[in-house]
Formats: sequence, C-alpha cells, structure tokens
Amino acid sequence: MTRKDRQTREFRAEVRKVLNILTHSLYTNREIFLRELISNASDALDKLRFRINRGEKPLVPDMPLEIRISIDKDKKLLTIADTGIGMSAEELGENLGTIAKSGSEEFLAQVDNLAPAGGENAETGRPDAANIVGRFGIGFYSAFMVAEKIEVISRPAFGDGAAAHIWTSDGLGSYSVEPAAGDDAPGRGTVVRAYIKDNATEFLEKFRVESVIRNHSGFMPFPIFLDGSRVNSEPALWLEPKFSIKKEQYDAFYKTLTCDANAPLDALHLSVDAPVQFNAILYIPDSPQDFFGMERDYWGVDLYARRVLIQRRNKDLIPEYLAFLKGVTDTEDLPLNISRETLQENALLRKINQVIVKQALSHLEKTAREEPEKYLRFWRLHGKIFKLGYHDFPNRERVSALLRFNTSALDDGESLTGLEDYMARAPEGQKTFWYVAAPNREAARLNPHTERFRARGIEVLYLYEPVDEFVMEGLGKYREWEFKPVENAPDDALAAFEDKTGTREKIAPLPEEEQENFAALLNRMKEILGDKVREVRVSQRLEDSPAVLVSPDGAMTSSMEKLLKVMHKDDSLPVKVLEVNQAHPLLRGMLGIFKADSGDNMLALMTRGLFDASLLLDGFIREPQALASRMNSLLTETAALYAEIRKA
Ligand code: ADP
Ligand code: MG
Repeated sequence: MTRKDRQTREFRAEVRKVLNILTHSLYTNREIFLRELISNASDALDKLRFRINRGEKPLVPDMPLEIRISIDKDKKLLTIADTGIGMSAEELGENLGTIAKSGSEEFLAQVDNLAPAGGENAETGRPDAANIVGRFGIGFYSAFMVAEKIEVISRPAFGDGAAAHIWTSDGLGSYSVEPAAGDDAPGRGTVVRAYIKDNATEFLEKFRVESVIRNHSGFMPFPIFLDGSRVNSEPALWLEPKFSIKKEQYDAFYKTLTCDANAPLDALHLSVDAPVQFNAILYIPDSPQDFFGMERDYWGVDLYARRVLIQRRNKDLIPEYLAFLKGVTDTEDLPLNISRETLQENALLRKINQVIVKQALSHLEKTAREEPEKYLRFWRLHGKIFKLGYHDFPNRERVSALLRFNTSALDDGESLTGLEDYMARAPEGQKTFWYVAAPNREAARLNPHTERFRARGIEVLYLYEPVDEFVMEGLGKYREWEFKPVENAPDDALAAFEDKTGTREKIAPLPEEEQENFAALLNRMKEILGDKVREVRVSQRLEDSPAVLVSPDGAMTSSMEKLLKVMHKDDSLPVKVLEVNQAHPLLRGMLGIFKADSGDNMLALMTRGLFDASLLLDGFIREPQALASRMNSLLTETAALYAEIRKA
C-alpha cells in the first residue's frame, strides 16, 4: 500500500477527553467492554440479517452469521470477529471517530468532577465503568480501558468489489484508516483486535473471558465461539415462538437462570406488542423462597434490551408481592446505553410491570380454576409473599380472590379454601368474613371468642401468620363483605343466626332473684383482681368456656396488640375486661361460695385461677413460678375438701 492511501485524523476534542477518562480513571467493572464489542457485533449481524431477509444478496452469502473471539497470549491480543454488515472506509471514520452527540455532551458536562460525581461503584467508591459506559453510550471506546491499541478491520457486506479497510488507534490523539492487507481482512464483516494493556491481562485468560461472555452476553441470538468452541449454548428462548418450545427447554433455561436443581412449578411466556413491546419468560419456582431472611434483596427480573443484558434482578419490572417470579424480560423499546439511574424513572418499565401483573394474576386465576391442586402447591410455597398484594389497590379484588385460608369449616389444619367458597357456604344474611388470629389450628379452635360462631355454624378464617391481620385490615372488604375479627364482634352480631347446638344439655338461666347476688359476686371478683382488669362483667359470647378476656374498646385484636407490644419492647400485661359465663358450673359454684361467705379465701383463689387461665388462652405466660404456686394452693384446698367428702 502506498503512503497516500493512509489517512490520519485527530480525534475531536471531546472524544479525546472521553478517551482520556476511559483510559486513566476507570478500573472497576472494566469487563463490560467485551459486552459492548459483542453487542456491536450482534447489531452488525442483525443489520445484515435484516437485509438478507429483504432479499438482498451479501458478499460471501454462505458465510454463517456468527461471532468468533480468540485469544493470542503471546501477542497479548484479544480478537472479536463478526460476519455482519461491515463498514466502508468512510463509515470507519464516521462511526469510530466521533461519539454520539447526546452521550458525549452529557459526559463532558460532568467530566471535570467525574470522580466524585455519580458513577462510583457503591462498594469500592471508585468510578465504575459499568455505570459510566452505560450512562453515556460510549460503547466502542470502552475497549480503550483495557487495550493500548485497537485495530478494526472491516469489509462491507454490500457494494461492488467491497474493499477492506483497517482503522487503527492508540486511543490518545488520533486514528488512521487505510486499505487492509489481503490476509488480514475478513471475507465479510468486522474484526476488532484489542492489544491488551499490561494491567488488564486477565482478559487474556480463557476462563475469565468465557465467564464474562456467559454473564453479559449468554443469550445473544448468534453463536459466539471462543477459541473455536461455542460459548452461548441456547438462542434467546424468550424470542422463540411458544409452540416450538418443549418443556425440557423451559426447564433447562430455568435451571441455568436460577441454579435451582428442581424444575419450576410453572412457566409464563409472554409476547406483548402493546402498550409496550416486550418478551418475557417468568417462572414460578417449585421450592420455597426466603424473602424475609437472608435473601431479602435477592429478587427481581433480569432486564434485556434487544438480547443484551442491561440489569440482573431489576426490581421495577415486578411488584414485591410477585417477588417469587424468576425470569427475563427483553424489550426493543429501550436504548442499550440506558443507565441504572435513568432506568428507575423509566415509564417503560412501569408499563411492562403493569402488563406482567395483569398476566401473572390471570395465570394464577386460571391455575386456581383448572388445576386447583397445583394452585394450592403454589400457595403453600409462595402465599406468604403473594398475600402482600393487598397493597396493590387497583388489583385488590383479584388478589383477594386468590387468597387461601385454613378455616373452622375444614377438616384439618392442612386444607385450604378461598373467599368465594366461604361466601358460598355462608348462611343467608351473613355479610362478614369473620377471622381469628392464632398460632395454630388448635389455638384458634380453643379461642373462647370462636365458640358462639361454632355453635351457629358460622365459618371462621384462621390466620396463622402475623402479617395476616394486616392483610385483612388492609383489604377491609371483598365484594362488599367486610373482614372482621371475631373478638370485636358485638354482642348481637350473631342474633340472626340460629344456635345449632340445641341438643346439648344446657344449664338453666340464672333466676331473676339471683341476678343481684351475681352482680355482687362480680364486684367482689373485681376487688380481688384489682387493677389487673378494667371490669368484670357477664358475657354474651361464651358457650363452653367459663371466662374470656376482651379488649375494652374492641378496637384492636389481642394478636395485633401483642405485635405492637413486641415492636415497642413493652412487656406489660394488657388491662382488659374479664367476661364470665353466667351459665357455667364454675361460676354457679362460685356464686354459692360467695353467698355463704363473701370473704372466703377459696373465692380469691378461684377468681385468680380463672383470670390466669384466661390470660393463658389469650397467649400471655408471665411469671410461671407465681402461676404454679397459685395453682398449687388451689389444688391443696380442693384436695383437702375432696378428701373430706370421700371420707363422709
Ligand atoms: P453504538 O453501538 O451505541 O452505536 P458504539 O460506540 O458501540 O455505539 O459503536 C459506534 C458505531 O460503530 C455503531 O453504531 C456502528 O455503526 C459501528 N460499529 C461498531 N462496531 C461495529 C461492527 N462490529 N460492525 C459494524 N459496525 C460497527
Ligand atoms: Mg455499541
């Protein structure tokens, strides 16, 4: 070649500044240069494929569409070759001599205070190439972070007798373009040769390069070879038509994505064109997820833009209550060079989020309808997080219909039912979902507040997790039926419903003339308990139990109160109303003792015992030693009396 064929040009001032920053300031996350070069190669292949699809015939038509990467350790050379659209001499100068105006201007506006201004890596505090390159769209130049010299040899795929040219630069002041020597030049497309700097030799290690490719470009739609062997195994599965994908392929993709050894419970494959364009594959794992412990932040959906990974576990794409979903979203509507900062305000992601929510809810509804067993499996695995959907105001009704509960109407603690079924079972006239919070089924069943509901055959939802009561309060209503705790049911709440325990032997109501004595007994009991209770009164809510503690204002349930006490590190006992069952033999016996001697010590022991038992049922165990000693006193008195009776 002759000297006059060579054209050397100075980089424009702003390019020089950008290059200077790239080469001298960025050391964190430099690996993303490879993503940029591969994405350029992939773009070039995309452009070529587009024109082939339109019927044009490229140079060397039988050359496959692929990307080949090779390492030459001796020459410290990393080569990225594609068989794509290629560039002419003019294009080499235009495309690689300037920087997209918008990006460079913004970049330069911040250049002078770059180090302290945004773009640092949160952990290292150093400027992070991943943020900066992404933010300013300086893809190709990022290779100068790791290369002291770059050669780009390119032959356009179209045009008569298309000649190959070589672009060369050390990334300092200038670049040159000249005709390429025959044996250097590709038959078609572009070869990028990066001469790796001494401080970046990690990019001459095969395993390192391979892991970077897998991490950032694993799902490129074109084959990528590293030193002759294929690195990216699968095409982007989410872009394939659904009917052509086998279950094994979905499962395999899930496993590489999550490192979960089990196949997923379900896969949701979306191809959406409006209101936004995106493709997604979202999986429901078949194993429980620990969002509340160690993996608090380990959720989100991987975001791709035209098959290039933009961000792993993006949390704007799904709401927290769908955090069990694992998968990928790929959109054409997002520029590749978008940064994480601008991502957050991106309206596009919000739109995708809304579509995903709608589709996920429809999918769950369909599963609940058509495969109830599978749905229950989903609920047992992920219900804990899904129920947080009560926050999602616009979708509240749909989320509510998908909730599942153990209830008093079911045979065991494992069975589950939904609100629709509850409504269908409810007697005429019921307009309330009654619930009780308890640590387990046995505790819920023994809660004295549930007795009159059971007696009238009114189903009670059993809530076993602390969050459940917040869910109920947050929802407030479902299809005009209110959610209410049984504890706060007013005395006449069940007046309209018939007591179905008619056959059971009942103690006759206390005669009128005894009412005054009973009222005096209640006063005595209050005297004995002092300020441990607010009041002692006759209960309308009890069937079998002798007594129950009730919140005075009925506003807060006892489990809610307990939760707040834990939060406020308050370990005092609540001061409540003690309600007693006038028809219970224990109270009738106490009335007898009271009438004989209102100062009898036995009365004090019994009152205290009744109160202790009610506290226990309410879930409070305080000072067990004192409790045991009171119980022993009571037993001692009883034993003495009983022995007397037996002797007689
Ligand atoms: P961007 O990819 O965002 O346009 P880059 O700095 O990565 O910015 O690349 C600049 C331009 O150089 C590309 O738009 C493209 O026209 C051209 N280019 C880079 N690499 C290649 C390639 N391998 N084949 C063809 N053209 C390329
Ligand atoms: Mg690019």
